[in-house]
Amino acid sequence: MTTVEAAKLSPSESVLQSVYASAARLKTSPEVVDLLKTSWREVRAQIPVRMDNRKLHIFEGYRVQHNGARGPYKGGIRFHPLADIDEVRALAMLMTYKCALMDLPFGGAKGGVMCDPSRMSETEVNRLTRAYVQHIGMVLGINRDIPAPDMGTNAQTMAWMMDAYGQRYGYTPGIVTGKPVELGGSYGRDQATGRGVATCMREYTVHEKTNPRDLKVVIQGYGNVGSWTARIAHQIGFTIIGLSDIKGGIYNPDGIDIAAVDKHFAVAGSVAGFEPAEPVTNEQLLELPCDYLVPAALGEVIHAENAARIKARAVIEAANHPITPDGDAALNARGIPVLPDIMVNAGGVTVSYFEWTQNIQQFRWSLEEVNAELEKRVVATFHEVMGRTVRDGTLPRAAAFDISLERVAKAITLRGFV
Ligand code: NAD
Repeated sequence: MTTVEAAKLSPSESVLQSVYASAARLKTSPEVVDLLKTSWREVRAQIPVRMDNRKLHIFEGYRVQHNGARGPYKGGIRFHPLADIDEVRALAMLMTYKCALMDLPFGGAKGGVMCDPSRMSETEVNRLTRAYVQHIGMVLGINRDIPAPDMGTNAQTMAWMMDAYGQRYGYTPGIVTGKPVELGGSYGRDQATGRGVATCMREYTVHEKTNPRDLKVVIQGYGNVGSWTARIAHQIGFTIIGLSDIKGGIYNPDGIDIAAVDKHFAVAGSVAGFEPAEPVTNEQLLELPCDYLVPAALGEVIHAENAARIKARAVIEAANHPITPDGDAALNARGIPVLPDIMVNAGGVTVSYFEWTQNIQQFRWSLEEVNAELEKRVVATFHEVMGRTVRDGTLPRAAAFDISLERVAKAITLRGFV
């Protein structure tokens, strides 16, 4: 496939490139591959919401359930202007493979509403969230489909979802994960994705026999994932030299004090403007010289056009699908290793699994127990993937997809789906 053709791939077609490549290596049955090309169910809903100015706004929302062979569907809800059906479908596919890679008893799903929560009042987001649950509630269930937060949603959104679901179906805290701790959320869920990312970075230093104290890191995105990655990576000993969010970026080659950034963020609502640091654009940030580049915001930010200018020694995919297939090929050709999203950012869904099990058992684990169990699983999966790269001579993304596709295909066959 030429670069021009690859650039035209939709998000779901891009994810499928990894699945097809794995299926060819593993000689997966064509019937299984056919089943995995599309979603098991896609709900597309028109969601009318009366805005604060009394005008009616009709939002479009989705819940996509990709494959449930390994257990109930699991995946976040994204509130973002670009959250169209194909992006949500691609993210649902990634969840199938991410849950399988972590050996969690879940299938893959994702939801989204095309909206810009940063331009809506809190009451508007509350009304939208409740209306969304009214439209997709019939496909959810504690043993059917369990949403969680993603871009543009958070613990408060999950609290509203749980409440809206409960009004119709009865009190069911396990219907969503990533809830506030006061409503049955798990300790450690807020930091879990970033903790998983930082743990993969630390284990990668073990793998490449380097020391975090000698390594410089650039992170794009300072939301849930980016900010926790920065805090925990900083604690581990990495030097964070670049950060950004939607309003802009900052760069200081001598290192950025993350606690001071958090103080600045609390006042300014952005990392932009923090000192001492130089301002940089998001495009410049991705091209800064560093050891590890961690995209932790949007998808497809590294592509054929900018891949040649990436100066990082390795790219750690904290966001979902931050590299297009042609961007990935260009980085591979330059010998820049990429640690894949389905491994790197799986800490979130892993602690979501802990939250779901705690809700079912009506029991609470301590933060120390959650973090210790997460650490064990992330480290084991990291080394399983890297071990597979050595055994098969594959790259980390291929190894991660091979492990997960084997598990998903086995469950599909055992269930008798094909
Ligand atoms: P979030 O909404 O908390 O934060 C998103 C961040 O990206 C914010 O700092 C925002 O300012 C920044 N951003 C938005 N648009 C941008 C742009 N155009 N340029 C630069 N920065 C921009 O979202 P999150 O939960 O941190 O999710 C970030 C990524 O991680 C997404 O790809 C998401 O799918 C993935 N992810 C999240 C979780 C989770 O538990 N939250 C789990 C796995 C993967």
